[in-house]
Amino acid sequence: MDNEQRKQLNEILNNPNNKIVFFGGAGVSTESGIPDFRSADGLYNQESDDGLSPEFKLSNTYFRMHRKDFYDFYRKHLIPPAGVKPNAAHYALAKLEQLGRLTGVVTQNIDGLHQAAGSKKVFEIHGSVHRNFCTRCGKEYPMSAITESTGIPVCDVCGEAIKPGIVLYEEQLPADVVRQAQSAIDEANVMIVGGTSLNVYPAAAMAGKFDGTLIIMNNSPTPFDSYATMVVRGKIGENFSMLNIK
Ligand code: NAD
Repeated sequence: MDNEQRKQLNEILNNPNNKIVFFGGAGVSTESGIPDFRSADGLYNQESDDGLSPEFKLSNTYFRMHRKDFYDFYRKHLIPPAGVKPNAAHYALAKLEQLGRLTGVVTQNIDGLHQAAGSKKVFEIHGSVHRNFCTRCGKEYPMSAITESTGIPVCDVCGEAIKPGIVLYEEQLPADVVRQAQSAIDEANVMIVGGTSLNVYPAAAMAGKFDGTLIIMNNSPTPFDSYATMVVRGKIGENFSMLNIK
């Protein structure tokens, strides 16, 4: 981020008349130590020993047909590493909310780090690793039900599998969360899109339709860069830590 961008961003973020919405993805959490999907060291570029794509292993079909393998993959690649902490981007967004300038954080992330940083208005359109449900009776379980079990985790009431509360490929986004996220977007006149390749639909369409001031903070190009008022390259956590939000 150059000095001119830093000055402009400080002005936008510190203007009390602005209503800002943040739309983010996996790149927001890479500086916390959670790999994204599409960067060079992301999940999609890692060697697969069985020739199956990560998309397939995170599909509803794979969950139904290869349940034990699904959980092995899920525990290894989707559960955040132990002791993971929010970074400067998460904290800056929580501060913007406390200052009354943020209509919400709409995130594709499932790691819960925005809430860990203090954000309250978080719309997790792809769900969360922290909420898991019995596939029969719906009883809710914390992440420990998955991490502290082996093989297929089962419900202590009815013995059926516990399914992670994340949106798998082939599944719909949760309608109520999408509605709330869309309200936060509609209320805003500034959208910051950060740490997302904007390649995963229908989530990306929510950002693509925004008609206010669009700021993209991503370290690689996205399909929406040409529509943006400002494109800020570099690491989003480092960039947020250079701003003076007050
Ligand atoms: P993605 O992997 O497709 O894209 C991440 C983008 O962030 C890339 O364009 C990359 O260049 C950029 N990026 C990486 N680190 C960055 C940084 N420090 N600063 C700025 N930009 C950075 O991820 P996506 O667009 O979120 O979509 C993939 C799906 O992955 C989502 O559905 C999400 O649910 C899931 N996912 C979530 C997590 C998580 O919860 N932390 C981690 C991996 C994947």
